[in-house]
Amino acid sequence: MSSDYAIPAPPVISLPVRGSHRRFPVHRIYCVGRNYAAHAIEMGHDPHREPPFFFQKNPDTLLANGSDFPYPDKSADVHYELELVVALASGGKNIPEARALDCVFGYAVGLDMTRRDLQGQAKKMGRPWDVGKAFDHSAPCSEIVPVEMIGHPDAGNLWLKVNEELRQNGDLNQMIWKVPEIIAYLSGLFTLAPGDLIFSGTPAGVGATVRGDTLHGGVDGVGELEISVV
Ligand code: MN
Repeated sequence: MSSDYAIPAPPVISLPVRGSHRRFPVHRIYCVGRNYAAHAIEMGHDPHREPPFFFQKNPDTLLANGSDFPYPDKSADVHYELELVVALASGGKNIPEARALDCVFGYAVGLDMTRRDLQGQAKKMGRPWDVGKAFDHSAPCSEIVPVEMIGHPDAGNLWLKVNEELRQNGDLNQMIWKVPEIIAYLSGLFTLAPGDLIFSGTPAGVGATVRGDTLHGGVDGVGELEISVV
């Protein structure tokens, strides 16, 4: 069999789209850190002195809704962070805030799974967060819901239950940087592209999970996500 590639080409990573047989191909995954004041405070930071910031995960860290989440190696303190995910249909550089929402294809519910112990060591040593944030299966994500179905949610409860017990409870209207501001700011740092996902930050109530837990979360008006920690 002939091929243009020296090794087998990696597959296109994609997510299902509600109401369609077509899937959403994923380009990059950006994440916003400390975008809810109450979460910044619970992590020991002053949201008035430190604005939100960005890090990335790799597309192949995505985990489908309903899947088993294998508890990762090298950590004894894996945390859940329930987040609204923004999916881009178009991108560019220096996108004005007023046009930012035109880039959005839809929204989803995601979990920014975090090896908090490794992230903590990285913070202390001034090192990058990758080992704490971008490990295998660290980005469980629901189907993408197109804007035509739900508009642009800027308020609404986001919540996470661990084994049916409510642990995270916030509202999209508590985001420090709203979705248009995130897109505008991010596009000044990186060229955004179709297929980019943005995990927009988590509300208060993050905590550790253990094998055997069921994590069930949602964003009202968008959807729900459930995974089993194994
Ligand atoms: Mn997060």
